[in-house]
Amino acid sequence: MNISPGSNDFGEAVESDRAHVWHHLSQHKRYETSDPLVIIEGKGMRVWDANGREFLDAVSGGVWTVNVGYGRESIADAVREQLVKLNYFANSAGNVPGALFARRLIEKMPGMSRVYFSNSGSEANEKAYKIVRQISHNKHGGKKHKILYRERDYHGTTITALSSTGQNQRKDQYGPFTPGFVEVPHCMEYRSQYGPCDDYGVRAAKAIEDVILREGPDTIGAIVLEPITAGGGVITPPDGYWETVQDICRKYEILLHIDEVVCGLGRTGTWFGYQHYGIQPDIVTMAKGVASGYAAISCTVTTEDVFNQFKADPSDPMSYFRDISTFGGCAAGPAAALENMRIIEEENLLDNVTAMGEYLLTRFNELKDRHELIGDVRGKGLFCGIELVKDRETREPVHESITQAVVADCMANGVIIGATNRSFDAYNNTLCLSPALISTPKELDEIVDAIDNALERVAVD
Ligand code: PLP
Repeated sequence: MNISPGSNDFGEAVESDRAHVWHHLSQHKRYETSDPLVIIEGKGMRVWDANGREFLDAVSGGVWTVNVGYGRESIADAVREQLVKLNYFANSAGNVPGALFARRLIEKMPGMSRVYFSNSGSEANEKAYKIVRQISHNKHGGKKHKILYRERDYHGTTITALSSTGQNQRKDQYGPFTPGFVEVPHCMEYRSQYGPCDDYGVRAAKAIEDVILREGPDTIGAIVLEPITAGGGVITPPDGYWETVQDICRKYEILLHIDEVVCGLGRTGTWFGYQHYGIQPDIVTMAKGVASGYAAISCTVTTEDVFNQFKADPSDPMSYFRDISTFGGCAAGPAAALENMRIIEEENLLDNVTAMGEYLLTRFNELKDRHELIGDVRGKGLFCGIELVKDRETREPVHESITQAVVADCMANGVIIGATNRSFDAYNNTLCLSPALISTPKELDEIVDAIDNALERVAVD
């Protein structure tokens, strides 16, 4: 299809969408009176819809995914070339881009060793859980099978990924859940469970140890954590948190699984979010930015030590990892991922993220001086959250209608921003930003100005 924004050629697509497509996370009643949003083209950081409207995308494809921006011909070329040569073969055999990408990835992850391919963040996390469960069966008679997860973290949409998710609004009505997942408290200093204190990070980490001792350390195989919580409110970890978590994991022989589905591949200015905190995970999962949305690919990466446990006894037919993902063998994913990584390196995007991230945080902090509605500004690299409150003193969150009004105002003025999920009990009050790694001050100013104006209008209403 030859796309020309604004040409009005898309009426049929819009009507077909309205009639037949069930959109993610959407209440469809509203499409009885308004058009569904159908995006037809993207270039750089901008997208166009079927009505010819242009938007600056401040959330990289809506869900922090299109890290290197839209319209990258070199990725499309790499994928095309690979598909013509070999589109697919089950991943019980290797393929060339998969092998080369695995090596390039491991070069960026000291201490890690093996890459298991699948298609989505949820699936990558499920693989990690299965690895932990199988180790528990092989080494601990099935006893060390529990997996800890943290309040406010999200790990995916399947029932078991949801079982390990600390956001009630996503879980309500989908139970019963998979047994063996246990929640630990969040580490969000702005909403400290202990009141103001100097050692919040250490206390928040020690709260994990309390849960471990309550459950029994010999029952816990792993803990899964986001390096910076994304959809739960862009929660940057407090000082001292990660070092203490790592010590606790080592003390009780609990595998540390870091979910890099959002932070991975440059979002925070390092290849992976955990690399800011000097920790060494045992398992790392990633998806969205791995190929910037040009192909579906996710990875479950482990240390050699974890991997070795699956080949220790070749005579035991139960010892290897008895798992498969059909489309983990699609060669388009690693072909796109290889080129995506080359772009990040060649264009020095990690440095750009660090510089532009500081610029964006500075600008948002300036907004905080002018808008009483802003309670807290958080972020690392091009990954920011702005928490809105009714009252700075009490920190009472604004009603979700206020957050949504800001999002809608920005959208009406051509800038797409995100927010923590609707009907998220008391926590539906954070604006989320994750512009592409290629951002320049020009686009960031446009984003900040749109939020500035939206807050002005919303405060007056
Ligand atoms: N983990 C985190 C931290 C996420 O934010 C997400 C999705 O937003 C997932 C896992 C699930 O990824 P997917 O939607 O690709 O299954």
